[in-house]
Amino acid sequence: MPVSRSRPHVALVAAIVAALIVGPTSVGAEWVVETRAGAFRIRSEFTLSRSESEGLIREIGQLQEDVETLLAIQASDDPILLSLFRNSSSYRQHLAQRVPEAASRPALFVKGADMSRVYVYRRRGYEIDVRHECTHAVLHNALPFVPLWLDEGLAEYFEVSPGDRSARNPHLGSLRRSILFGWKPDLERLEALTELQQMGPAEYRESWAWVHFMLHGPLEVRQALSDHLEDLRQGETETRLSVRLRQADRNVDRRLVAHLRGWR
Ligand SMILES: [Zn+2]
Repeated sequence: MPVSRSRPHVALVAAIVAALIVGPTSVGAEWVVETRAGAFRIRSEFTLSRSESEGLIREIGQLQEDVETLLAIQASDDPILLSLFRNSSSYRQHLAQRVPEAASRPALFVKGADMSRVYVYRRRGYEIDVRHECTHAVLHNALPFVPLWLDEGLAEYFEVSPGDRSARNPHLGSLRRSILFGWKPDLERLEALTELQQMGPAEYRESWAWVHFMLHGPLEVRQALSDHLEDLRQGETETRLSVRLRQADRNVDRRLVAHLRGWR
């Protein structure tokens, strides 16, 4: 029968197609959990109990809702693959073949043509990594472009658990101490950064500060963020947020510092 003769060929073709789709990165990765939550497809190399799995799904759903509600944006259902690795070496091995330039990063979000991908490995507090990277994924499902510093500032804001976001992010205490020693913001400098490698702890912290100020500060500052997000949604990327903020308040740098000092 031609069918039986053709089978090895079909199998080979199928194997090649599978290799093209999955890529060599499937080597070593053994997914013991696969589940879905809205746009998210979740797979894990380590076992999650039923309650852990349900908790993760709930948390991701809540995160997306929080991002959408607070920023008044709407994310699409474009697929987001969240891969959880059992340890750093398995994570690095996987990334070395798929995104080698980023394999040294502790967690990663990559926007692909076919889908978005989030890579996180299990370590103490890895839930923070999940929330941080998934915030990027939700933002990029809602907006065609997000400036680097704003992308990171929002991810820093949403990475802590919901009850801690407004007043218990570690950045707040750290900035207050720096303010005592004369720290001053420089949003235009942040806006000029285009590569993730240019973002160090100080840049993440200041990005968070601006985001916190724009989410919890005076109405005109919140409006500036809202207008900027609407610009981005419509594909208008020319007007920088610093321009809108300085139109809203000429002394916006001083107001930011006062906001951080006085926030409870
Ligand atoms: Zn990030």
